[in-house]
Amino acid sequence: MKHDTDYQEAERRQFVGKQIEARGVRDQLVLYAMRKVRRELFVPKELRAEAYEDSPLPIGSGQTISQPYIVAFMIEALALQGGEKVLEIGAGSGYAAAVLSQIAGDVFTVERVGELARRAAANLKKAGCERVHVRHADGTEGWAEEAPFDAILVSAGAPDVPTSLMRQLRVGGRMVIPIGRNPRAQELIRITRAAEDDFQREDIADVRFVPLIGKEGWESEDDGWQAHPPRVIQTRPAMSVSLPGLIAKKAHVFPDLKNVDLESLERRIGAARVVLIGEATHGTSEFYRMRARITRRLIESKGFNIVAAEADWPDAARIDHYIRHRDVPRSEWTAFARFPTWMWRNQETRTFVDWLHKRNATLEYEKRTAFYGLDLYSLYNSVRVVISYLESVDPDLAEVARQRYGCLMPWEADPAAYGHAALTGAYRKCEQDVAHLLVELLQKQQAYLTGDGDRFFDAAQNARLVANAERYYRVMYYGSRASWNLRDSHMFETLKHVLHFHGPDAKVIVWAHNSHVGDASATEMSRRGEYNIGQLCRQYFDPECYSIGFGTNDGTVAAASAWDGPMQVMNIRPAHPQSYERLFHLTNAPALMLPLKGRTQEDLVGRLMKPLLERAIGVIYRPESELASHYFEAKLPLQFDEYIWIDRTSAIHPLEVLEVEGMPETYPFGV
Ligand code: SAH
Repeated sequence: MKHDTDYQEAERRQFVGKQIEARGVRDQLVLYAMRKVRRELFVPKELRAEAYEDSPLPIGSGQTISQPYIVAFMIEALALQGGEKVLEIGAGSGYAAAVLSQIAGDVFTVERVGELARRAAANLKKAGCERVHVRHADGTEGWAEEAPFDAILVSAGAPDVPTSLMRQLRVGGRMVIPIGRNPRAQELIRITRAAEDDFQREDIADVRFVPLIGKEGWESEDDGWQAHPPRVIQTRPAMSVSLPGLIAKKAHVFPDLKNVDLESLERRIGAARVVLIGEATHGTSEFYRMRARITRRLIESKGFNIVAAEADWPDAARIDHYIRHRDVPRSEWTAFARFPTWMWRNQETRTFVDWLHKRNATLEYEKRTAFYGLDLYSLYNSVRVVISYLESVDPDLAEVARQRYGCLMPWEADPAAYGHAALTGAYRKCEQDVAHLLVELLQKQQAYLTGDGDRFFDAAQNARLVANAERYYRVMYYGSRASWNLRDSHMFETLKHVLHFHGPDAKVIVWAHNSHVGDASATEMSRRGEYNIGQLCRQYFDPECYSIGFGTNDGTVAAASAWDGPMQVMNIRPAHPQSYERLFHLTNAPALMLPLKGRTQEDLVGRLMKPLLERAIGVIYRPESELASHYFEAKLPLQFDEYIWIDRTSAIHPLEVLEVEGMPETYPFGV
């Protein structure tokens, strides 16, 4: 057996201190065992360098070695005293069994996948764990010959507690097992067999595990299962109770949106010329209204003259035409008709747009505030705008455009299918065509600019969008990271073009989701290699950039259950115990603004630095799998410059068709 070097031992000691003890595991036996077991012996050779990071790692056969913290957390829940006879189901790499064996007497572990069972046995032997016994079998039936057990640990998620396992638990013994009908998220429960027929159940955490497959488990790996890493979040709040008190002290608490003083916020924004305002959902009235209030203030007293939103460029252009009273030809499509329609077609946005329409009317054209869309989902409408613009200024180039863009036209109903076909060679790439047209258009700038500069800029942006969207649909095929980055890069580039177009004094307010606006490098997105417009703005504009995030505890939200599904008003679940939202909820403030920069905030910011969960609700909300699908890890103080909390919120009000009847034809929300 190879001997542990001092270096590795020191690394493990540090790792256990930082990842296990600091997160609330207190049982000395468990901490001792975690320090003792060499995890690198249980991971594939090429991943050894990552053995002491707190994350699950692949071990082959589609399975993972559990995250160390969750192994420690589960074993602590078994409350072992030493010397017990323990059963584990789901040996995987054998790591958890090795940790158990440092405390218990004999450990029996069962693994369903033969190859893994063999490897686990070999790993355990290498690690010198002689009292661990590995069996290749369906663990849902336990290990009857060796029963009863003092403790049972199940390392895979089951729909229900297998009765065989309950029967094999000694009276007084404990079983820890992830349970739940939802394959994406389970409840970690502890069962204590108090008497022959008395099983007591406690819920101890929300977790996500790979499935327990077998006679008394799941039937087979259905589509609901994905290769998401398991992750545990402890439900016993580990945070100090005084932290919410400190937040309340350092924040500007306000009773409601009508009574909020924006003066100090205005001061903090100072000389910034890019202000990013987020939202924690795409369907919360309070976020829209508060954002509009801040925006109005910045326009009125700080000279901001552009609003750039996470909306389609051509649709946003319709708002711009209306608010800047521009005279442009009517378009052929309905603005904001694409899912999710409620995101911009709502009462809250309408109120703001109408205000800006009126305010702009009193100003000369150059002084009017403009409105732009940053997103790139409008490929085909953008094609139409470019062609119709060219038809009016340069019919020859319009003909060329029609031909070049013709390459994309067969795919209008399903642009993702274009990406697939182009990648697999089943269809030619349109990359050259769209790139050429953009160049040809930009070369004509001087010639066309004698006309309407706004219209040329609009056409050029649409042509840029077509080029980026063409790429977007091709990289989408490779997965979410590349396409996410491309989308946020497009937003950032668009922002820069807009600022440039409006000249050196331009000041812009960005409206987008927290996940775009908050610096991605402060969240788990960065671990996936993702960045966003907030991060890019900081890198480029700092210190002339200020970002504001939003959060809420509960209430209602407008969202759909699935893409293209109907909008529903749903209840938001109260915030998770390990989230920033819970901390803010515990302040008991109905609403507050918390600056995260500046000397007066330093002590608080230091205490908020410990990563916690944060919730993101987009156009889709699935409360039933909330932890798995809507929470991510973040360091709030690094993510935003300021955080606005509204404890209870309500759904936005989508516009009904009737409500916009009688409006002029140019009205952006008309139908
Ligand atoms: N404890 C392991 C991680 C286990 S992952 C470690 O520390 O590495 C869950 C394991 O449970 C997988 O290896 C999976 O193959 C196994 N498993 C799933 N259903 C099972 C069943 N019915 N019986 C035994 N093992 C099962």
